Amino acid sequence: MADGSHPGGPPQTWPASYYDGRSSARHPVTVTLSGSGLTIQREDGTPLSWRYDDVRQTQGEHAGEPIRLECGAPLQEALVIDDASFAPALRSFVEHRYRHFRFPLSVRRRIAQIGAAFMASIAAVAALVLWGIPALADLVTPWVPVSWEVSVGQAALGQMVPDNQRCTNERLRKRLDLLMVRLVDPSKTPYEFHLTVVDSQLFNAYALPGGNIVIFRPLLQATKTPEELAGVLAHEAQHVLLRHTTKSLLRDLSLAAMIGAAFGDVSGIGALAVQAAGTLSVLHYSRDMEEQADREGMRLLQKAHFNPAGMIRFFETLKGRHGHIDVPGYLSTHPQTEERIARLKAMLHHPSDTSAVEPDEEWQHTAALCRA
Ligand SMILES: [Zn+2]
Repeated sequence: MADGSHPGGPPQTWPASYYDGRSSARHPVTVTLSGSGLTIQREDGTPLSWRYDDVRQTQGEHAGEPIRLECGAPLQEALVIDDASFAPALRSFVEHRYRHFRFPLSVRRRIAQIGAAFMASIAAVAALVLWGIPALADLVTPWVPVSWEVSVGQAALGQMVPDNQRCTNERLRKRLDLLMVRLVDPSKTPYEFHLTVVDSQLFNAYALPGGNIVIFRPLLQATKTPEELAGVLAHEAQHVLLRHTTKSLLRDLSLAAMIGAAFGDVSGIGALAVQAAGTLSVLHYSRDMEEQADREGMRLLQKAHFNPAGMIRFFETLKGRHGHIDVPGYLSTHPQTEERIARLKAMLHHPSDTSAVEPDEEWQHTAALCRA
């Protein structure tokens, strides 16, 4: 069957108005549809063919609206079809193949959508009344756009780590970037991870909403192999991927700021960043969140073929340090217990996974770099 021909009769045509882009004159035309495009029959008998690929739809997404299609550049020709039977016919030709066309939702879909929105608002109000802000924060977190998390995380990082405290060594940066990309495949997540190494005496590491991970030099230098650092990064990356940072931050925000976050509003980002920096610098995750980050972090390591024994070994190193350091940030926010290490060991699939990771001289040299 040739394109456009219909069994049992001539193809269906619709009356339409055509604008040639040169003047505002309206030309009455008729339109026929085919599998690859539409044909416009002008009054003088000359046909025009538009391929669906080249057509832009600028109107007709809402019920009762005429469909307006545009084509061509720089002269923009336009076609307006009022006939209500045109939309379902066009839809039957383009659906699933050309994703740039939009049609009004069916009545059933619209009712379902309104119903879902209604139930969500009831749930939100109930959560707020019954359990207060933390419960509402948990409910809102999945709706916060990644772009909001990135903006807030970036602004908070600016507050928390001044430029002159950041390690800028090119070789160090490249090595860490490679490690991070191997750990979290950027093509499989909406988050872009960035590591910032802080030149400071504190022993700490933390994650910010949206994909920034901050590591302090003493902690970086305490890792004897890339596998050990990968363990810390996998855990921190999971706090981002599982939105633990965002959830904890939202719990601390005002109701208005939380609603703003759900809508991706970044208008008050300056003030928000100051508050976020305050909240995130003393952040304590719940025990559940820590266990989840450990568990999912271990999965991340195994998927990226890092020896997970590195993660366990680093935690054992930390255990050894306990008592030598005055309240190091990483230990106070990430409780180190025998139980935690035992739980991680239980997750290893093969006994050989627990083999020690040999210290790596080159790694230790790179980890000590900071400025050019
Ligand atoms: Zn943690």
